[in-house]
Parts: sequence; C-alpha cells; structure tokens
Amino acid sequence: MSEYIITTEKGKWEVICGLEIHCQIISNSKMYSGASTVFGADPNEHVSFVDAGMPGMLPTLNKQCVHQAVKTGLGLNAKINKYSAFSRKNYFYADLPQGYQITQFQYPLVGEGKVVVDLSDGTTKEIGIERIHIEQDAGKSIHDLDPKRSFIDLNRAGVGLMEIVTKPDFRSPEEAGEFLKKLRSIVRYLGTCDGNMDEGSMRCDVNVSVRPYGSNELRTRCEMKNVNSVKFVMQAIENEAKRHIEVYESGGQIAQETRQFDPVTGQTKVMRKKEYAHDYRYFPEPDLLPLVLTDEYIDSVKKEMCELPDAKKARYVEQLGLTPYDAKVICENKEIADFFETAAQGRDAKKVANWLMGDFFAMLKEKHLELKDSPISAEHLGKLVDLICKEVISGKIAKDVFVIMADTGKDPEQIVEEKGLKQVTDTGAIEAIIDGVIASNPDNLAAYKGGKTNLLGWFVGQVIKQSQGKANPAIVNKLLKEKLDK
Ligand code: MN
Repeated sequence: MSEYIITTEKGKWEVICGLEIHCQIISNSKMYSGASTVFGADPNEHVSFVDAGMPGMLPTLNKQCVHQAVKTGLGLNAKINKYSAFSRKNYFYADLPQGYQITQFQYPLVGEGKVVVDLSDGTTKEIGIERIHIEQDAGKSIHDLDPKRSFIDLNRAGVGLMEIVTKPDFRSPEEAGEFLKKLRSIVRYLGTCDGNMDEGSMRCDVNVSVRPYGSNELRTRCEMKNVNSVKFVMQAIENEAKRHIEVYESGGQIAQETRQFDPVTGQTKVMRKKEYAHDYRYFPEPDLLPLVLTDEYIDSVKKEMCELPDAKKARYVEQLGLTPYDAKVICENKEIADFFETAAQGRDAKKVANWLMGDFFAMLKEKHLELKDSPISAEHLGKLVDLICKEVISGKIAKDVFVIMADTGKDPEQIVEEKGLKQVTDTGAIEAIIDGVIASNPDNLAAYKGGKTNLLGWFVGQVIKQSQGKANPAIVNKLLKEKLDK
C-alpha cells in the first residue's frame, strides 16, 4: 500500500485521523416522540410537547429507530449489545429546548465492527468501528434570515440519529474519503439513512493529529465539526495536518480545540476550546429504561439483511467476470446494481457492463439525467446486447441504435426493424459488393498482390461502407481475404 507521508524541509510526518459520523435514521417518526420527520414542512410544523421540552413530558423510545440502528450495526460487521442504556448529555443551546440531549454514553447499542475500503492503488484497508450509539438530533438555529434576530425551527429536534464512531485508523485523506463513500453506500443499501451529506442527513466530525513518521506517539488532536462533503473531509484532513506540522516545526504546541472547516478557503479556524466528557455532566436518563434485546430479535433483523456492496462486488468479479473497477462502480449505488442485474439477466454480463459503463453513463451525463429518469430501460439495454450477440446488428450499428433509443425510448428490436438495420449475413449479397469494390480499384488490388497486405483493412472498410454498415464484418473479412489471395 502506498503510504501518505507529508515531507517538509525539516522532516517526515504521518497523519492520524478518526471520524464521527451522525447519520439521520430513516423513520416516519422521531426518536422519542410520535411527531413526523417529514422533510420540507413549514418551520415548527412537526413539534410535539416532548420535542419542545415542555415540563413533565415523557419520552418513549421509537422501536423503528432501534431496528434501523441494529441493522446498520450488522451491516458494519459490528457486535450488537443486548444491553444498552440512555444518558443525558447536558448543555445549553437555543435549539435544544430540553437543556440536554438524550443519548447513549457508557452503554452504546452497537460495539466494535469493521469496514473494508478500496483504495486507488488496488489495495484494501480495514477500518475499525469503535461504536454506534443512538441519540436525538437538535433543532435548527437560523441566523441568516434577519440582520438582528435569529430564528429557531424545531422540526428536526428529536429526529433519530446514529452516531458512528471509528477508530483512529485513517492515515490519509483518501482512506477517509473512501470510507465515507463505502459507509454511505452501505446505509443506502440498508435503507437506514439516505446518506445525503449536502442536506445534512449524514454529517461528519473529523479528528486529526500528526506525529513524526515512524514514531508511535499520539499527539493532541483537533476536531472539525459538521464537514458536509467527502471532498471537504479530505481537504480538512490535509490542511489541518499541514497546520499542525507548521506549528510543531516552528516550536509551538497544538491546543485541543474544536475547529470549523471553511469550504471557501479550505482552511480551518478555531470555534471553541475542546470540551471534555465531564463538562456535559452525563448521568443515566431517568425517563427511559435500559434497552434489552433478545437473540431472537437480533436474528430476525439479520434475516432482513440484503446483499451488501462488498459481497455483490465479489460476486460480480468472480461469477460474472467483471473487472474489479467496473464491479466497484456498479455496486456503489444499489439502483445502478439493480439496473445492471436486470439488464444482464441471462446474458453476457461483461458486455452489458461495458455498455453501462461506457455509452449508457455518458448518455445520462450528457442529458443531465438521473438513472431513474433514463429513457433507456434495463430491459431495452439488455435487448440491444442480445441483438449484437446474435449478430443481428454489428457493434457499430448498435451505437447508432443506442442513440435512437436514448432519443425516443423505443425498443431496439423495433428500431432495427423500422430502419432496416439488420446485418447482412447473406454471403451472396456480400460477395457481390466485394466483387464490385475489387473491380473498381485495380491499383490497390495490384498493390495488395505486390505485398502491401495491410490494404486488406482498406478493402474491408470500403465493402462495409457500401453496405451502409450492415455487412457482417467477420464474413466480409473472410470472403475478401479469399478473393484477394486467389
Ligand atoms: Mn452526537
């Protein structure tokens, strides 16, 4: 594996990074109340007395949120803790009306797990999961609508979150970026979080420290809060590491602090001095009983698990003959994988993958379309490949048919029929064209016979052109060679 080392005039440095990712749980109602989680409602439309922190209100744990978090834990190869418990994390903020967050502290729902990431040099790396705990989201403070006032929207207050904490296993921005992509892909496959970082349903806190290359020490780390894209996470790691190195090399010390990543400059700036766990006065949540799960329950969630991207990728490579790269791209997104499987059903899967990765993706990009809006259905793409494999049309004509499919959404068989594009395999008809081409080009024939045998390609081209692309190239090649060598 290629190492990521930052080299300066004074020395070599290694980056240490860990991530904490808050994932909004897909569920119709909130974590501890029955209020709706629907997105896009008017401010404060979906706020129950519990979410508003009214005195005397009692939270009730949402079964569906627990179910989703257990499923996510299984998807990250993690241990599900049969005993977990809730704690109060006390802090004041205007968008947290209770004055505390109900979270899990000592006893998280999910324990250690692991995720394998694929790196650009073809190697893989295992990233450790430390824990996943479940907790409630806060509301939103809105500071940019009015010059003098701030607004509070509590629609998000109480929405269920899974906080996924990794071990400090990342040694490069790339590893962290690939991990986030893999995690996003897994939660989307599972249907437990929509993974949209730009909408805030997956938010990443990035912890970074550096150490002299080759040493084992752990130096002070800084945390960047709520970085909202894979690219920004990678930038934040790189730039924060460089900042630490500059400080150390000029004789300074790094203070443990919480920083903010500015997407415009790519730099980080200090938000506040780092708070410690004891600052929050965690104590057991008196309004919720500990959560106790049975083996039967955990087994029942296991039975619901679908094939995840890693397993799917391995199957595509081993059983369908796809390249690891193609398999990775297709498996990253479940909709694409489903589309591919429908198109490849009972056919040459590798050919289907080539069309999908090539002309098909290029077409979507050119037309600015999402897969679900594709004018070409999976069935039609499969049929097009059939037409090529059965030699009804040549690969070249297929490209033209594909363009018509993209413009009209029509069935390729119908297009071939209507436009009369069927390949000519009738040797008599092809021979007639060949004879004509040879007769009208005596100079090239003489040159060929004189030893310029690479003129064969030119003759093939002429014959195919005269057949308007419909002559079967293999037959043309064979017949031409026979006639020229006679
Ligand atoms: Mn949290």
